[in-house]
Amino acid sequence: MRCLDCAAAGTDSSTVGVCQGCGAGVCAGHARIAPRRLRHGSLLGASREAEARTVICPVCAAAEAPTAIALTL
Ligand SMILES: [Zn+2]
Ligand SMILES: [Zn+2]
Repeated sequence: MRCLDCAAAGTDSSTVGVCQGCGAGVCAGHARIAPRRLRHGSLLGASREAEARTVICPVCAAAEAPTAIALTL
């Protein structure tokens, strides 16, 4: 798969992930990582939170996750 944003700009690069917002492929330069909190545990037991991640494209990041960070390799 090719990065949608790179393809739109006329360049060609392979993807490192898929945007969870719009489904577009994103390359390392366009990928944004947003933290996603998961809650574990039952109603009776003590719950704990774990931090997972979501890969999104720059367009979705600007719209729904302004705190998303660029991927640094
Ligand atoms: Zn790209
Ligand atoms: Zn997107």
